Amino acid sequence: MSRIASITVHDIRFPTSLELDGSDAVNVDPDYSAAYVITRTDDGEEGHGFVFTCGRGNEVIVKAIEAYAALLQRRDVDELIYDLGGASRRLVHDSQLRWLGPEKGVSQMACGALVSSLWDLRAKREGKPLWLLLSGMSPEEIVDVVDFTHISDALSPAQALDILRAGQDGKAERIASLQAEGFPAYTTSPGWLGYSDEKLVRLSRQAAAEGFSMIKLKVGGSLADDQRRLRLAREAVGDLPIAIDANQRWDVPEAIEWVRQLEDFRPYWVEEPTSTDDILGHAAIRAGVSPTRVATGEAVANRIVFKQLLQAKAIDVLQLDSTRVAGVNENIANLLLAARFGVPVCPHAGGVGLCELVQHFSFFDYAAVSASQEDRMIEYVDHLHEHFAEPVRIGGGRYAAPQRPGTGAEMLAASRARWEFPSGQGWLDVGGRTAVTAPGLASAGASR
Ligand SMILES: [Mg+2]
Repeated sequence: MSRIASITVHDIRFPTSLELDGSDAVNVDPDYSAAYVITRTDDGEEGHGFVFTCGRGNEVIVKAIEAYAALLQRRDVDELIYDLGGASRRLVHDSQLRWLGPEKGVSQMACGALVSSLWDLRAKREGKPLWLLLSGMSPEEIVDVVDFTHISDALSPAQALDILRAGQDGKAERIASLQAEGFPAYTTSPGWLGYSDEKLVRLSRQAAAEGFSMIKLKVGGSLADDQRRLRLAREAVGDLPIAIDANQRWDVPEAIEWVRQLEDFRPYWVEEPTSTDDILGHAAIRAGVSPTRVATGEAVANRIVFKQLLQAKAIDVLQLDSTRVAGVNENIANLLLAARFGVPVCPHAGGVGLCELVQHFSFFDYAAVSASQEDRMIEYVDHLHEHFAEPVRIGGGRYAAPQRPGTGAEMLAASRARWEFPSGQGWLDVGGRTAVTAPGLASAGASR
């Protein structure tokens, strides 16, 4: 019998604030980071997982993962990876640690990294990428890993089973089409707030030429800047959809007013117009900015908030995030909730490694859950992929199907060593700066 031998957690950070990659109205200077966990077994198997963060505070998640990891030490590996519903519940509902959440923030993300490292172990043992592992599981097995606690009023196990059974029809053909043609993507690369107009126009044109389904611009710093940047982007891409993303910058009335002032540029959706905890606020904004769609999810802590956003008809697009919630299991719940309410899922990605992880959920969704690609696309941002064992592959504006066994989390050992914070050679080379703040953006952030 093989047992969990060790669980090690690393603080890995990339100095992305030097180039303002990832800058928006709220996150003005992110150093894209990963609290990275490796779960090892007595037999030498490894499962990898991580939580994405924006830099400072990554050490807090590292400590939280270590606290939860104690619950898995020396446990029977097969019991964990062949009862992943039970493994997840053991962590998420721990009678003492749950006080730190429950089911939100640092504790939820820490559980997610560990749960996903167990899925990585399972997928590697079965020699399948996660999306194919999930697509090959029976509807009963999938329902078994979902935690229906506090969502059964909107989605019962029987209803989930119905959705998944319906998803078996034509599944083999959809898997074949995913292998051949991949899944549509949109890109946020042109739209970071810290980029110059010239860079915005150049990258927007490039995205349209490369076949992406949509581009996305960060907004919410200054209305005049947003109108100028949207005009430039609209001229650059013609009729291609353009989404806008405020990263929770506004209160409800301001969100409605601001988005209306941008209506002429036909935004496809407004993303995170206000606090993601404000379910009724999202419903009011959705009514106020129609026909512009409302999207949110990258900061939604759990399935229970998604349930309410759907019940309140507050969102048109559900943007699940691979490391914000309690791992693979909870994102299966989120996919099933979205299918139940007929809302498309367009996952959040970017950061470091989020594209590598989140693609698996859209591939699984198309293969075996919603069975649709209509109004669905995966976010894509083109940096830091080179650090991963299987970097995402984009062609013709589409994600190619991941092939390597596992969840996509595995980062190259050399990258992990170089960017371990603060002692890695990469950090020694850039002078150990924890975040290099551009003066112009610092004042924009300070004036919130
Ligand atoms: Mg966003």
